[in-house]
Amino acid sequence: MNKKPIKFLPQSSSALLNSKYIALKITLCLIIFAMSITFFPHVKVKAYTPPDALRVGIIYNSVSSNPITFSAPGGVTIYDSTGAQTYQTNNSVNITMQKSALGGVDAVIDGSIVASGVTDLTFTPNSNFLALSGISYRGSFIVNRLSTDGFNVINKVNINDYVQGVVAKEIGASSPTEALKAQAVCARNYGAAHLNKHSKYGFDVCNTTDCQVYGGINTETPAIIDAVQATSNVYALYNGALADLVFSSSTGGYTEDAQYVWGGDVPYLKPVDSLYEDKNKSYYNWTYEITPAEATTKLSKYGLGNITDIQIIAATPRNVTTQLKVIGDAGEKVFKLEACRTLFGTGLKSQAYTLTKEGGTTTTPSQIMAIDKDYETQAVPSNPSIITSNGTQPLTESVIAVITKDGTQSIPGVSTPTTSGVTKFVFNGRGFGHLVGLSQEGAIGMAKAGFSYQDILKHFYTGITL
Ligand SMILES: [Zn+2]
Repeated sequence: MNKKPIKFLPQSSSALLNSKYIALKITLCLIIFAMSITFFPHVKVKAYTPPDALRVGIIYNSVSSNPITFSAPGGVTIYDSTGAQTYQTNNSVNITMQKSALGGVDAVIDGSIVASGVTDLTFTPNSNFLALSGISYRGSFIVNRLSTDGFNVINKVNINDYVQGVVAKEIGASSPTEALKAQAVCARNYGAAHLNKHSKYGFDVCNTTDCQVYGGINTETPAIIDAVQATSNVYALYNGALADLVFSSSTGGYTEDAQYVWGGDVPYLKPVDSLYEDKNKSYYNWTYEITPAEATTKLSKYGLGNITDIQIIAATPRNVTTQLKVIGDAGEKVFKLEACRTLFGTGLKSQAYTLTKEGGTTTTPSQIMAIDKDYETQAVPSNPSIITSNGTQPLTESVIAVITKDGTQSIPGVSTPTTSGVTKFVFNGRGFGHLVGLSQEGAIGMAKAGFSYQDILKHFYTGITL
C-alpha cells in the first residue's frame, strides 16, 4: 500500500528547527497514545476456542435391553472406560453389545465375549468407518448401559465431520454452494453452543430435530464436504460470544423478533426482510382450516369443552400472532408466543397468520364510549387500537390498563367481539417454522442471486461477526 509521508515542517538543516520537530513528534505521539486509551479503554479481543469433538447421541434412553449390533468393515480397536485397550482386529467384524451378567455391557465378536461387564466401551475403527442400522459414521462409538437396562450408542466425532452429516438433512444437498456454507456455519455454531445439552445421557447433542438431524456419512456429498471445509474455522460471534444461529425453513417474506416467539430479547435475532424466497414453494403462503369439532378434539387436554370461538388478541406489526384466545363452553385459554403455532400440532405452519371464520354470528359484548370532536358521545368500533409508548396496540381487556388517581386499572368492559355458531376457522399464513433467524428458503434465494454466505448470515443475524 502506498502512503505519502506527512511532512510537519519543511526540510531544514537548522538544529533549532530539528529539535522543535522532535518535540512536536513526541507531543503528537503522546496525544495519540492518550486518545487511544480514551476511546478504546478495554479492547481485548479474545479468540474463540472451538471444541475438538462432539458427542452425538445415536441410540439413547432406550428402554430395550435387546442386543445392539454394529459393524466395523475396516477392523476395530476397543478401549475400556479407563482408556486401556482391550481388543484389536483389522478384520471386518460385527460387534454385538449385550447385557452383561456382571452389570454393564459385554462386547461380543464372532461368538466370543471380547470385553465384559464394563460400564462403557469405546470403539475406534482402524480404517474405514463404523456402521449402525445402515448408516456409516465418522469418528468412534461409545456404548454404555443405562440404569433402565437399555443402551446408549454415542458417536464421538470431530465437529466438522458432524457438520458434514447435518447440512444435507437440514437444507438439502442440492442447495447452492453459498447456502450450503451458511447452513454449515449454523450447524457448527449450534453444535459448539450446545455442549452438554443432553449431559443427563452422557452426550452433547442428539441426532433428531430436537437438536439437528444428523445422518452420518450417508448424507454427505462432495458439494457439502467442500462447503464445510471452506468454512472449517468459521464461527458466528456476537460481542465475542458464540451466537445461537437458529433457523427455520421459510418465512414468506420476513423473519420475526425472537422475543415474540420465545419471549427473550436476543440482539442478533431481530426481524428482517427475506426477499429472495421462492413464492411458488408450498409454505410461502398456506391455508389451514379447522372445524370447531376438530379443534375440540385437538385441544381436549385443556378442559375447554366444545370450542366455539378463536380470536387473535395480540399480534406483531408483521401479523405474527402472540396471543390467541380459544373459547369453549367450559372455559377459555389464551395461548401465547410459540404456542400460537403449535396448539393444533402440525396444523399451523407458523405464527404468521390471519384468521377468518365461516358461518356464525358476531356479537360485540360491550362498547367503549368516546367523545368525538363535536362533543358527541360515540361508541368506539370493535377491535379498537390505541397508540402507546410501544407503538399501536389492540385495545383489549387482556393488555390495556390505564393509570388513574387510584393506581393502575384495567379499562373495564372492553373485549373482542365473540362469534358463535362458526362452522370453520380459516387461517391464512406465511412461512414454515418459528420464523426467527436465517430462513433456509431465503438463504437459497440469496445464494442464487449471487450473495456470499457471509452476506447471507449477516443479513439474517443482526450485528454478528464471522
Ligand atoms: Zn437433542
